[in-house]
Amino acid sequence: MSRAMTGASVSSAPPASSSASRRCSSWPTPTRSNIEPVEPTTVDLAPLLDLLRGRRLAVLTGAGCSTESGIPDYRGPETARRARNPVQFKAFVGDPEARRRYWARSVVGWPRFREARPNDGHAALAALERAGRALGVITQNVDRLHHAAGSRRVVELHGALHEVRCLACGAREARDDLQARLLAANPGHDARAAELAPDGDAELPQALIDAFRVVGCLTCGGDLKPDVVFFGEVVPRAVREAGQALLREAEALLVVGSSLTVFSGYRFVREAREVGRPVAILNLGPTRGDGDAQVKVDGRAGEALPRLVEGLTAGG
Ligand SMILES: [Zn+2]
Repeated sequence: MSRAMTGASVSSAPPASSSASRRCSSWPTPTRSNIEPVEPTTVDLAPLLDLLRGRRLAVLTGAGCSTESGIPDYRGPETARRARNPVQFKAFVGDPEARRRYWARSVVGWPRFREARPNDGHAALAALERAGRALGVITQNVDRLHHAAGSRRVVELHGALHEVRCLACGAREARDDLQARLLAANPGHDARAAELAPDGDAELPQALIDAFRVVGCLTCGGDLKPDVVFFGEVVPRAVREAGQALLREAEALLVVGSSLTVFSGYRFVREAREVGRPVAILNLGPTRGDGDAQVKVDGRAGEALPRLVEGLTAGG
C-alpha cells in the first residue's frame, strides 16, 4: 500500500496533501465502461469526518456503492452486463418485441445478478445505522445489497429487480418464481445462450430472441415488468416522499457512489440545501452536486466507507 501512498505509481491520483480534493479533473469520469475498481489509494477523510461527526445522517447511494460487488449500473433496466441502450419505459410497454428481447436477455443475466454479495461499503453503512448515526439509506440501486448487508430502513428510489409487477392488474411475483416459469417455457434457452453468447448475458443472437416465449401474469395473463423505474418513468410519489421524510429527519446528507446525473437522486441534494442540511459527497469522479456540497471527497465506497464509519462511531 505504501507505493500508493507515495503516489509514485498512481499518476492520476491527487497529491496526498490535497485533503479537500474538490478538484478531481484527473480522475476518470464514471461511465459504465470504466468504473471498474482502480488501484487502491488511501484518501484523506478528515474533511468528511469534520462535517459529519455528531450529526445523524441520511445516506444517498448510487451505482458506485455496488461496483465493488461486481455490479455495473443496472438501472438500465437491462440485466445485460453491457447495457448500452437501456430499454425506455415507452418502448417496453408499447412494443412486444422490446419485452421479448428484455426477458430473453434477463433470464440469462438474472442468476449472476442475484448472486452478487454486499461489499465492505454496504456493511459499513449498515453498521452506521445500527450505531444510531445514520437513519437509513436512500438508494438508486436495484440490487437489494443494502438489505443483504443488514440495513433496515432502505428507500429504493428505482425499485428492485427482485420483483416483477403486472402492467394490467398490478399483481406482483418474485423474480425467482418468474425465472422458473420462463425457463420452463423455454427449455434449453439458457444453455443455448451460454453456447452462442459465451459472455453470458451480453448481446444474444436475434434467432434466440425470436424463439423466446414470454410468459404473462399468473392472475390475469397481462404483461409483466420488472418492478424497477425505467428510463422515461417517474419515481412513485410514495417512494419519493419516504426519501424526503428520511432526509428531513436527518441532520446531514452523505452521498456515496453517485454521479447524481439522474434527477431522482440529485433531487435530494437540492432538497437538503433547501432545508438547511449540509451535504457531503464521497464519489470516484465529479458529480452534478459538487457545487452544492460542503465537502467532496474522491474515493471508492468499499475502501473509504469502513474508515469513515469507524471515525464517525469512535468515541461514542
Ligand atoms: Zn395481472
